[in-house]
Amino acid sequence: MLHNKAVPAGPALDPEKVLAALGRVLSDAAEPVALHEPCFMGREWDYLKDCLDSGWVSSVGSYVDRFEEMLAETCDVPHAVVTMNGTAALHLALVLCDVAPGDEVLMPGLTFIATANAATYSGAIPHFVDSDAVTLGLNMEKLAEHLQTKAHIAGGVTRNKETGRRIGAIVPMHTFGHPVDMDALNEIAARWKIPVVEDAAESLGSTYKGRPVGGLSQVGALSFNGNKIVTTGGGGAVLCRDATMAALAKHLSTTAKLPHKWAFDHDAVGYNYRLPNINAALGCAQLEQLAGFVSAKRVLAERYLDEFADVPGVRLFREPEYACSNYWLNTLILEKADQHARDRVLELTNDNGYLTRPVWTPLHTLPMFDQCPRMDMSMAEELSDRIVCLPSSAPLGIGQ
Ligand SMILES: *Cc1c(COP(=O)(O)O)cnc(C)c1O
Repeated sequence: MLHNKAVPAGPALDPEKVLAALGRVLSDAAEPVALHEPCFMGREWDYLKDCLDSGWVSSVGSYVDRFEEMLAETCDVPHAVVTMNGTAALHLALVLCDVAPGDEVLMPGLTFIATANAATYSGAIPHFVDSDAVTLGLNMEKLAEHLQTKAHIAGGVTRNKETGRRIGAIVPMHTFGHPVDMDALNEIAARWKIPVVEDAAESLGSTYKGRPVGGLSQVGALSFNGNKIVTTGGGGAVLCRDATMAALAKHLSTTAKLPHKWAFDHDAVGYNYRLPNINAALGCAQLEQLAGFVSAKRVLAERYLDEFADVPGVRLFREPEYACSNYWLNTLILEKADQHARDRVLELTNDNGYLTRPVWTPLHTLPMFDQCPRMDMSMAEELSDRIVCLPSSAPLGIGQ
């Protein structure tokens, strides 16, 4: 376990040494080496052909049911409801937790924009939490302290004392596949009576204390976008422990249409968030390969760890002790926050055919979210200058 504690000043970062280490790991890969590519080595063609042959390509069909069952089993939850993308799944999950217009939703400032967009779609206001240097996710100590000073509970409702707004949910996100400490988070959430929506978009296949992520709180969301570990082209899923909640998720994702042989009746403003059968067919074939993808990605992570061990000025982001990560994206963390040095690494590696990427711009600095409530965000800001994501497609670890 590598912690991000005070590291004695070592030799300075040398982008050429980063490039050389990348070259050693990726020597057999055809350039340019993408950040993350899908891998279709299973029964994708069979299932897609079956879909076309049967004519069941749209919103109902046997692959939708099968994909939902497979997901529920993989994530060890009673129910999964698939959606057309991960953002829709997150939005639906927040609605299921009764997040309402004018509420605030606690979330990391360092996450993909979808986390904050989904809260905004439900009429809520993101409330940003700083990052933890070890997990890159929510900083639990700072979150607990922040709630202690900023929140109060009256009449069973938790509010932000400063804004008077209800705090409707907490959304942890497992950055690049590495789980945050969910026991600690669930305890904080229970103490403050705030529902938890797990943004597990990047972490399908990861486990926390032996349990699959995504199902570690009331409701979770997955993504099957083209760059995720398992893809349906575009897609997502809501994972639920509660049967009533799952039924409501299905209902709301299906335009809130009341089941009937021929009538068009709806009892709410629902959404057209369903995943087409043709995408679910791809999902079934992909999910059959999940264990293989995870082990390939862990082999690749080991190789990166070996080859970067002696590269000065950087370390690799590793799974916390309690977790087994899917290592969705292998990530370099520069010892010093220096945007200029980070950019030199990005320039040199991209120029040489390795399509490395920085992390997201912290959301509280974007124009549409810069007025949102937040705590001190110094670690999120620092980390945004220290992260370089490395090519991580599963085939790179399958033996080239
Ligand atoms: C990919 C992702 C999502 C969902 O993205 P979609 O493209 O809508 O499927 C949500 N949150 C995070 C952190 C993600 O990485």
